[in-house]
Amino acid sequence: MTRDPQHAPLDADDRRAIAPVICYPNDALPPADVEGYRAAMQTAAAGDGVTVPPRDAASILVPAGSILRIGCPEGPQVGDLNLFNANNLNERFFSGKTRAIHGTHVTVGHRLWSNFPYLRPMATVINDTLEWYGADEFGGRVHDVIGTRCDPYTGRALGGPDYHYCCHSNLTRALADDQGIELEQAEPYVHDVLNVFMCTGFTRDTGQYFMKASPVRAGDYLDLFAEIDLLAVLSACPGGDCSSEHSSDTAACYPLSMQVFTPEKGALPNWQSPPINPYDRSHGR
Ligand SMILES: [Zn+2]
Repeated sequence: MTRDPQHAPLDADDRRAIAPVICYPNDALPPADVEGYRAAMQTAAAGDGVTVPPRDAASILVPAGSILRIGCPEGPQVGDLNLFNANNLNERFFSGKTRAIHGTHVTVGHRLWSNFPYLRPMATVINDTLEWYGADEFGGRVHDVIGTRCDPYTGRALGGPDYHYCCHSNLTRALADDQGIELEQAEPYVHDVLNVFMCTGFTRDTGQYFMKASPVRAGDYLDLFAEIDLLAVLSACPGGDCSSEHSSDTAACYPLSMQVFTPEKGALPNWQSPPINPYDRSHGR
């Protein structure tokens, strides 16, 4: 029997009615000790800090066992975050698997996972002043791991003019400066981001990625506990609050901040930096 691709099968409704199953039931994961991390934060002294200028990026080292606070000090602004193992740039944030494990957006208790073959928690979200937002009527949520980062290549593919201060280029320049390497050496290390403070979702009718004005306001922050030594690189997106457009100088943009907080010695008696993934990499041979 040939099948007409234009017409749904007779049992179409039955097929659609099948209930979904969670791909990665994450109740097998050891729960993050958020209260323990927060108690350690209470003992912490403010250490190094850096301001991320609008339409630019900056980097900071975050030693394992300390906390990175990403702040919005002045006005509504979205940030694109890259995370690296500070001792091995090949280990970096894996937004796709973080999404598969925790969901499209992250908040308190979620881990930020590293890429293969390391696949371990790099950081844990311990405070999020936008946790109250939840999901809006459009399906929008905050802090996504679905958008990749604005970049000049997609701009070209969609027929736009070159714009050099997209997050991809900002991250590339900041990583090159941090490491003392050329742009072309730095660029391949730049990876899909955590979109800090960004409010996004998928449209129900066409399934397209949407953004809307971020609910972030001056004073909001996201705290990430560093499970390993981290190099954090953050771009203040040229989209500003991402209410209208990005990849241009049109939107109002504000700075972001990154500050490290170091808990007192002994404040985390039960915490250990996670080892790299134990899979033996034999891949069936
Ligand atoms: Zn951007």
